[in-house]
Amino acid sequence: MTAFDAFLGSLASPMDILAGFDRQAACAAGVKPATYQAWGRAHKVYFGTTRYRRQQANAVRVARTTGKSLDQVLFIEQQVASLSAEGEKWKTRLALLSVRGDFKALQRRAKDIMPEADKPAPESKVRFGKSCKGKRTFSATGDEHLIAALEHTLRRGLNPDRPDAPQMYEAFADLLRDGGGVPTAAPRPLVVVPVPEYFKILGGDGDETILGLSDGTTMTGAEFLAEHYGKDLEVGLFHPQAGPVNLYDAKRCANAKQRDLARATLTTCPVPDCRHAADHCQVHHVTPWVAGGQTNMNNLSVLCRYHNLTNDDDPLRKHRGRIRIRHGTPVWVSPRGKPVPNTTHQYGAMHLLFGQ
Ligand SMILES: [Zn+2]
Repeated sequence: MTAFDAFLGSLASPMDILAGFDRQAACAAGVKPATYQAWGRAHKVYFGTTRYRRQQANAVRVARTTGKSLDQVLFIEQQVASLSAEGEKWKTRLALLSVRGDFKALQRRAKDIMPEADKPAPESKVRFGKSCKGKRTFSATGDEHLIAALEHTLRRGLNPDRPDAPQMYEAFADLLRDGGGVPTAAPRPLVVVPVPEYFKILGGDGDETILGLSDGTTMTGAEFLAEHYGKDLEVGLFHPQAGPVNLYDAKRCANAKQRDLARATLTTCPVPDCRHAADHCQVHHVTPWVAGGQTNMNNLSVLCRYHNLTNDDDPLRKHRGRIRIRHGTPVWVSPRGKPVPNTTHQYGAMHLLFGQ
């Protein structure tokens, strides 16, 4: 066994480590104070005196059964630290300790398990940092629509061969010098129509049907017919099983309507926890074009630039996971074959219309 194997082996049984925690010995061994302080807090939780003795014994037992690592135990303590009631802490700690899987699996589940913090909305403000080698940093918090319009403006015309952030700074500097402001985001509304309703409306029986638009408004089937061919309205047809309906074919580049349908199907990049909005994503061929994949809706997904680059396009590569289409919806599938949806901003049409 190498020293590294032995080191990992000891990390894998954190309850044994924490049981014998010795602050002075850790300090003398040159461990960083923040690290041994976190160990000390965890030692107190699992082996200190408490009125919650039954829960404490239970926590030690569950941590051993689910094979929690030291890092996972410390992550759990970080999470429950935000809770104020002691009973609530033990309940949440036990729920987190019961999660099986690696560190990332725990992080993902923690989002569902942790009670929603009742935090007030942050205050709108601008902050300036100090100069460092001729550069300064500032940050702004404000109305989400205004900041979204700013991001949209700065992302326009990015060169795909260069990293985004420096280019966005250049665009921002131009904006500050030349003024002009940020145009209010006013995308064309997209009306989302389930296929059975579509045929009802076309048959003249859709006056009672209420359709939802992507700008938060609604219209009746009759209004829809009147505006159907209008230039200000785009129509996205969704089938309950097949997903977005096929409209175009036989071109390598997705046309504008296909791009619109792809961003209506998913409003963010499908990779779990990715926050890139569909409007800033690329259109990705699930089966690559070079491997015979067609430019059809059943083979297209939005995907941010980074995740398009890291996607395992080659079906034999099992490295970073890949996008697959399931029940008409693109979903990220882990290298081990487990589909995991991105729950960030879940407003995609298939989710809204059919709960998928
Ligand atoms: Zn992404």
